[in-house]
Formats: sequence, C-alpha cells, structure tokens
Amino acid sequence: MSTDTYLNLVNSGVTKKIAKQLGLPRPAQLRRFRPGQPLVAGPVLVLGTGPDADAIAHLLSGTSLGDTGLESGWDLDVRRTATAGERHAAIVLVLTEITHPDQLSEPMLAAASALKGLAPGARIVTISRPATADIGPALSAARQGVDGVLRSLAKELRGGATANGVVVADGVPVTAPSALGALRFFLSTRSAFVDGQLLHVDSDAGSLPSDWDRPLAGRVAVVTGAARGIGAAIATTLARDGATVVAVDVPAAGEQLVAVANSVRGTALQLDVTAEDAGQKILDHTLTRHGRLDIVVHNAGITRDKLLANMTTEKWDPVLAVNVAAPLRINEALLESGDFTDAPRIVALASTSGIAGNRGQTNYAASKGGVIGMVRATAPLLTAFGGTANAVAPGFIETEMTARIPAVTRQVARRLNSLQQGGLPVDVAETVAFLASPQAGGVVGQTLRVCGQNLVGQ
Ligand code: NAD
Repeated sequence: MSTDTYLNLVNSGVTKKIAKQLGLPRPAQLRRFRPGQPLVAGPVLVLGTGPDADAIAHLLSGTSLGDTGLESGWDLDVRRTATAGERHAAIVLVLTEITHPDQLSEPMLAAASALKGLAPGARIVTISRPATADIGPALSAARQGVDGVLRSLAKELRGGATANGVVVADGVPVTAPSALGALRFFLSTRSAFVDGQLLHVDSDAGSLPSDWDRPLAGRVAVVTGAARGIGAAIATTLARDGATVVAVDVPAAGEQLVAVANSVRGTALQLDVTAEDAGQKILDHTLTRHGRLDIVVHNAGITRDKLLANMTTEKWDPVLAVNVAAPLRINEALLESGDFTDAPRIVALASTSGIAGNRGQTNYAASKGGVIGMVRATAPLLTAFGGTANAVAPGFIETEMTARIPAVTRQVARRLNSLQQGGLPVDVAETVAFLASPQAGGVVGQTLRVCGQNLVGQ
C-alpha cells in the first residue's frame, strides 16, 4: 500500500467507481520489479523497417542474429505488425533509419493503431539517432521530431504505461551493450517512475551481464546518506543486484546506518562527507574491508529552503558543501588514488529543481545544477578505464523529506506528472542501479530524470 491515500482510494472498491464517474485523475498502482519476474508480460510489437529493426526484433525474441553470434536470451513474444484485438505489453519503435520528418508518419500511425489495446503498465520505447548540427537540416529535423513525439505520447498514456527513448550515437550499433541495457531497463518494471525521458548511448563500451537479475555481482559499492530514505533504498537495491555495499552516513545517524548495513550484509562507515579527508576514509575502509571499490553513489543531500531575498550564509553554505563540494572532493581523491580504475561507476543525486528551478530553492538548485555539470565533466576523466559518471534527477519522491511538505501542497505536487503520483525511493534506486551496471558503460555524463515526467521544466 502506498502512503498516497488518494491513489489507494481510486484503485479500490466503491471509491474507484466514484472517481471514474466524476472524471477525477486516477493514478494507477505501478508494478515494481521483483527478481525472476518476466521482463515483459505479453506480446511486444516491434515497428520500423531496415536492418536495425530486424536486429532488435531478433534479439528480443531470443533468436541469434545471423553470424554475429549475438543472443540476448530474452525470449519475448515479438510481433512485427499490429493485429486487431491483440493486447500488447510493449511497443518498440526502431526509428534509426528515418531521414526526413515525412517518414515519421508510417511508424507512428502503426503504433497509434495498437495504443487502444495496450496492456496496463505497458511500455513504449523508441530507438533513434541524435539530432546533431552536422547531419543536415532534414535529418536533424526528423531525429528531433522523435524527441517531440515521444514526450507528447508519454503525456497521453494512462494505466501506469510509460514511453521513453534510447538515442544511439551515429556509428554505434543498436545492438551495443548500453543500447540493449537501456532498452531492457525501459521495458522492465525497474523503470516504473521514469517517463518521457530520452537516454543517450554514446559508445559501445560496457558489457551485458551473465545474469540479468544480478548484474552487480562481485562489485563493491559505496552509498552516502544510506541511513534512511532514498539512500537506504539504493543500498538495498544494489545489494539485491549482487553488490557488496558500504553504507555511509553521519555519526548522528549511526544506529539507523548499522541497521541498513546489516540488512544488506554490508559494512557501515560513519563519516561526514564534507570532511576534508572523506575520499581517503572511503578508500581506506573499502579497500581494507572489501579489497576493492567499483561504484560510488553520492546520495547524501540536504535542503535549507529560503527565498533568495531572505537567504543567509548559514542556509546557503551547508547545502553547497554537502550536495556538490563533497562529491567533487571525494571524486578527486578517488581518481588520484589509482584504486578506482576497473570500469568504475559514479552516480550522483541531482534533482528536477536543479533543472527546472524551484521557488525558495536557489541554494539547493545551485547545488543540484552543480551535480549535473559535475558528472558531465567527470565522465571524460573515467572513459580511459571504462568508467562512467552520471546523475539521477528525482522529482517528487515519497520520503521523510517530502512528508514534511504541507498536506495540500503535497497532494498537488504528487499529481503534477504524467503518472499522477509521487515516486518511491526504490524507483530512484533502480535507476541508480542501472547506471551503476556493466550494461550502462556507454551512458556517460548524463542526467536521467525519475519524475514520472514532471510537468514543470524541461
Ligand atoms: P533524507 O533527508 O531522507 O536522507 C539524506 C541522508 O543523507 C540522511 O540519512 C542524512 O543523515 C545524510 N546526510 C546528510 N548530510 C550528510 C553528510 N554531511 N555526510 C553524510 N551523510 C549525510 O533525503 P532523501 O529524500 O532520501 O534524499 C536523498 C537524495 O535525493 C538527496 O541528495 C536529495 O537531495 C535527493 N532528492 C530527493 C528528492 C525527494 O523527493 N525526496 C527529490 C530530488 C532529489
């Protein structure tokens, strides 16, 4: 049961009927990931023509691809044309071959004919190429058109269905590990609260895991701010995916921290991330106790909201110090150490406030905008050894932080996205886990929003 009473009411018994009759918003109960769950529960319609569409259809259905030896083992029930009356659980639109906006009509109208019969919680995923300045106006227009149609379609879907896109760089095959990794993430229930987003795959770096339910097996991950909320969910999710977890939080949160560390069979490190030597302390603990360090999740974060007109040093400085200066300093220490070089992963928590802005949060938005800039420029420092740095930008997530928002404001804030509800800490954690995985090696320097397609901002 969600803590969102309204969501529970419109999904049960007599109140469900009343909400329907009154035409009230009816947010769906989103399905979340469980290991062993089928990737997609029903037929998948793959639309698009050409070798890329054929390759994706082959891989999804689990048949090997010609002489490439590529096999996904996904074994989905793939269809290439929509049949009247069939309920599709997913539609994959392969749009990499389009060269002019005129060519969008055929695949989009083919998808349209399948939309009315979509299964609850269905997934729509586009696969396309980026609209860069050097490819000519018509091609760039066609590719940017995919962005527009995807974001609009996500706003039309109901019943917990989502639409997201994978944008694969020119020269990188659509079967590259991260193109398939991103496609799988968007098809699965791991992306329940990710909607209307386009994720870029810039290279064929990364590798597919031997076990999709434990992609982090053998990896050691540090999660800061892990004593509660989103950080605790990240620790649990990374451990579920096979990682050994070091849970970091301030000494004041010691008891909760130990409980989280014990629950994931990891270790606890009491540490204020703003300490000058925090990076070294993290390295010392991790190398001594676990012998290696592969993943760092900068999740520790604070807010001190105030209109800028009333802002004080006491409210500004700590927010910048915890949210962005500490991750910067820790990353620097890790990079200098030479002990963070086996396809390492940095994932930092940004916020939609750092993208769209939020009244009363200039300090917080400066820090979270800072995180977005930080990962963009940190990623190139890691590519030489197969590493990545990316950010996750949550929207409204049901945590202790947001439980303190006054009731009416909270009710409104929850509905202002395409899924008409707040996300759960686990939704953020699943996205962090994806970016930390081997199959996300070609995703670099990006910020992926987990906001149900928040209606404010970009
Ligand atoms: P929370 O306040 O529930 O938890 C934050 C944790 O960080 C706490 O355990 C706290 O003790 C720890 N922490 C704070 N300062 C620290 C320091 N100096 N050193 C070590 N640990 C420290 O917050 P949350 O809602 O779980 O948010 C987690 C992250 O997600 C934050 O970065 C936050 O800005 C971001 N975020 C949250 C939301 C949301 O809706 N809750 C939305 C967008 C972004």
